[in-house]
Amino acid sequence: MKIALIAHDKKKDDLLRFMDIHLDFFKNQELFATGTTGGRIIEHTGLPVNRCKSGPLGGDQEIGAMVANKAIDCIIFFRDPLTAQPHEPDVTALLRLSDVYDVPLATNEGTAEAVLYHLTRTERE
Ligand code: PGA
Repeated sequence: MKIALIAHDKKKDDLLRFMDIHLDFFKNQELFATGTTGGRIIEHTGLPVNRCKSGPLGGDQEIGAMVANKAIDCIIFFRDPLTAQPHEPDVTALLRLSDVYDVPLATNEGTAEAVLYHLTRTERE
């Protein structure tokens, strides 16, 4: 499965911790990420990640384009709801495209757990 991973700065450590817990799942997927998030994932897990530009420089839009081309199956996007983001319009556009193309998008750890649980079961069937 092609999985896109994005985390706002204050949520990057949370995403890495989440990936540690689910490493067996992530090591069998094709991973994509915005620039800084991808760099942190590679450094932390050693897994190969296809890196887009950094989020504020267009990375969320690049992932949105992949969604529109049906090249992404799931997005895990740990958002920081307490900090204003300069690229908020890009984030909104990505959320919109995930709805247009019916691509599962988890914006917090609780939802990400539920999505992974579902994907793992689907993969087994
Ligand atoms: P980053 O972008 O991974 O380059 O930090 C994430 C974002 O803020 O959208």
